[in-house]
Amino acid sequence: MNQKQTETDVIIIGGGQAALSTAYFLKRKKIPFIILDEQNQAGGAWLHTWESLRLFSPNTWSSLSGWMMPITEQTYPTRNEVIQYLSAYEQRYQFPIVRPVHVDRVESNGKYLDVYAGEKFW
Ligand SMILES: Cc1cc2nc3c(=O)[nH]c(=O)nc-3n(C[C@H](O)[C@H](O)[C@H](O)COP(=O)(O)OP(=O)(O)OC[C@H]3O[C@@H](n4cnc5c(N)ncnc54)[C@H](O)[C@@H]3O)c2cc1C
Repeated sequence: MNQKQTETDVIIIGGGQAALSTAYFLKRKKIPFIILDEQNQAGGAWLHTWESLRLFSPNTWSSLSGWMMPITEQTYPTRNEVIQYLSAYEQRYQFPIVRPVHVDRVESNGKYLDVYAGEKFW
């Protein structure tokens, strides 16, 4: 096998909003981590919803930790506004996100966890 290996303390699999929230606190605690996301851009599940979808929670209740969602034209943000917010959030905190990377499997080697994605592993 011709695999490239990198090591880090924490690997977050998937780059949706749960990942961004977790990343915010890992960064604050200065714990080394990376995010591996199979999408080509920020937005997670919101990239795959219909255009007309809006959040059912108002703007002011839909923020991730550390940075409020900017005021939107209407109380209930649109799908595109959510994607824009998640993109801006990622950039604001400069999270180490690798895209597109689909994680195939995670295995224990007895001491650590090995995370496999095609030719690479962490
Ligand atoms: C129709 C709908 C409406 C919603 N409306 C609201 C609302 O109004 N207000 C509200 O607060 N919440 C709402 N939610 C809930 C919430 O906003 C979403 O579910 C949110 O996207 C969940 O974020 P997440 O990070 O858990 O998962 P996701 O957004 O699904 O992100 C997971 C990411 O991981 C990636 N991934 C998965 N497997 C792998 C792998 N093996 N390797 C690499 N990457 C991988 C995925 O491609 C994706 O990018 C709604 C959800 C739905 C479905």
